[in-house]
Amino acid sequence: MKGKLIIVSAPSGAGKTSVVKYLLEYQTHLSFSISATSRSKRENEKDKKDYYFLSVEEFKQKIAQNEFLEWEEVYPNQFYGTLKSEVYRIWNEGQHVIFDVDVKGGLNIKQQFGDQALAVFVKPPTIRELEKRLLYRGTETPETLKKRLDKASYELSFADQFDVIVVNEDLKIAQKEMVRVVDDFLRVY
Ligand code: 5GP
Repeated sequence: MKGKLIIVSAPSGAGKTSVVKYLLEYQTHLSFSISATSRSKRENEKDKKDYYFLSVEEFKQKIAQNEFLEWEEVYPNQFYGTLKSEVYRIWNEGQHVIFDVDVKGGLNIKQQFGDQALAVFVKPPTIRELEKRLLYRGTETPETLKKRLDKASYELSFADQFDVIVVNEDLKIAQKEMVRVVDDFLRVY
């Protein structure tokens, strides 16, 4: 089996994580690429499951050792990156890889893998709706909320560069559309 890659990108709060979780339950041939990050762990998160949580120094060391497929300083001093070893680990298990990465990282991976990868952009219906969802999630301070909304507006301008756009107005519908799009891709290629 030739290993493939499913890239899911979106402004944070667009519902990307829920869509990815649903896909993972439904599509048993997909395994989640655990990213590395230097941001601090949220209460409900586990090291080596949600992320490999690293210090800024550890992260920079891995950059220097060329261990990343891609990495971004998503917010100042908050690094996020995909380790090359993750992709090979998953392919070696006979699975396809699914990534939950930011927009630039997603396009970066797509560029490296071309037709072997499907890049999907999950779009919130509006920025106002995105703000409401982030407030409801309750993980943001007023400062980080503003940072994320500013970044979201910028990220929306990249949507057209993705292979597919899934609008998340109704989560259930978006999840089903995602499954259809991914199934088609895994079947055809
Ligand atoms: P959060 O802090 O909410 O978990 O993630 C913040 C942003 O970083 C999200 O857009 C998420 O998709 C992105 N991100 C997570 N992992 C990676 C990665 O490996 N590379 C890149 N470029 N972005 C990532």
